[in-house]
Amino acid sequence: MKHSKLIQGILLGLRHRRSKDAAVSIATLVVGAVALLGADYGIPIWLQVFLYLWLLTVGLPTTLTVLSLAAVWGRFEPFYGMNGFMVVSFLAAPVVQVLVMERLRRWRPGADSGGPTGKEPPASQGPVSSSVDAATPLKTSNREACMKTNRRNFLLGLGGGGAMLALGALRQQGPTELPTDVPLIDFHAHLFGVGDSDSGCFLHDKQRRHWTFDYLKRLLGLHEPERPGDESIDVQLVRRLVEHVGASSVDRIVLQAWDGRYTNGKLDLESTTSLYVPNRYMFKVVAQHPELFIPCASINPKRSDALEELEYCAEQGAPMVKIHPPTMDVDPSNPAFLPFYRLCRERNIILMVHTGMEHAADIVGLENCDPQKLVPALELGCTVVAAHVGYGQFYDREDFYPSFERLVQQYSNLYGDSSILGSMLRWRNIPRLLDHPLALSRMIFGTDYPFASNALVFWNRLSPATLLALCAERNLFERDLQLKRHLGFPASHFRLGAQLLGLTSKG
Ligand SMILES: [Zn+2]
Repeated sequence: MKHSKLIQGILLGLRHRRSKDAAVSIATLVVGAVALLGADYGIPIWLQVFLYLWLLTVGLPTTLTVLSLAAVWGRFEPFYGMNGFMVVSFLAAPVVQVLVMERLRRWRPGADSGGPTGKEPPASQGPVSSSVDAATPLKTSNREACMKTNRRNFLLGLGGGGAMLALGALRQQGPTELPTDVPLIDFHAHLFGVGDSDSGCFLHDKQRRHWTFDYLKRLLGLHEPERPGDESIDVQLVRRLVEHVGASSVDRIVLQAWDGRYTNGKLDLESTTSLYVPNRYMFKVVAQHPELFIPCASINPKRSDALEELEYCAEQGAPMVKIHPPTMDVDPSNPAFLPFYRLCRERNIILMVHTGMEHAADIVGLENCDPQKLVPALELGCTVVAAHVGYGQFYDREDFYPSFERLVQQYSNLYGDSSILGSMLRWRNIPRLLDHPLALSRMIFGTDYPFASNALVFWNRLSPATLLALCAERNLFERDLQLKRHLGFPASHFRLGAQLLGLTSKG
């Protein structure tokens, strides 16, 4: 009974134009969220067309409001943080939608807006007109006028939306030629595991509860084993990885293990480590598919056996080692790590260090994400790759990218990778890089698999046909590769990984 009254109340409310406009705005926010998530997961083209038509016609005032907020958010106080962005968008968009629609209804081409002719038909009309005989000539002419206005507004929206899409078509680059003489390497992909096999992987409960866990499970189509004999998540993950690389234009991927946090030199799984993928498991997976995978060890330099582990990984053929300062609680500039860096140089092992914000796991010591912290390793002559080149997401207060731009001018042994830069909340990163030729010349192609690229947030740099195709692409390697080709990364970007690894022939 209560419910039916509530529904009745809502329906009555929706008979007012302002309420209808606000409802359209809320629906547009939902449609936008579906389109964005769909672009991560790979969404059919027909559904994209429907969603974009909505966003660019009836929902255009809301779409433009959110885009305008996104354009300024994260640039100055107090406009930082994702929650703030969502709350302000949710409040501002309906207001703008109502105001714009009211203005449009009053607007009559050739008449003064606001004058008597510019006024809305006296349709205080809502409830009253419903009680009047629907066949009266007055009502009919009002309805016709209303339909005309709606049609005109729809066409206006379509024109505005079309102009936005044309902007993307005009600015689209490439696609950049891919190398034919060297293999195409993805320099940054992750091996994960939850530890439901004999992998030795570990995933803390807090990481299981983190939004990334369900997101990645759905993205990769993983299922929790329910009956004895069901495939473990660890095995499913490797199978999916092999399928995705095999079906993409990428020839081989650098597959990373993930070391944990250490207390007094000992691995601390229970209280501080969020996730752990042991080097031994990574080598085992690489050995199953050496034609697809290149091993990348992961060593927390705080561990008491860091040097022995590095020697072991070198013996096993790892050309690269990764440190993830914010999850491992490591300050890369700590002088205690100099012997570790020295051994990397002696064994010709590339040192990859995560830089920039990390939102996918529990972290400590944000200041350790600054590429400036890599100076001691650079001074020693190590080949250093600053993963993600210090970037964050659009709403982040911290921005460490300027450090990378500065350091590439001083150190010829510093490189960066493009992993995760094509993802949903990072549309500002790549355009900034494209404006800096020196930084761009040091960039290595990497995906950050299994994290997904999102072509929709680059709508103003892609033609509609490319946008539709990339948002429909379900292979995460292929999508990231094709996106970066069309955004204007130079040919060197797709060769540099093979060059650094000394891989000279395609076969
Ligand atoms: Zn990564």
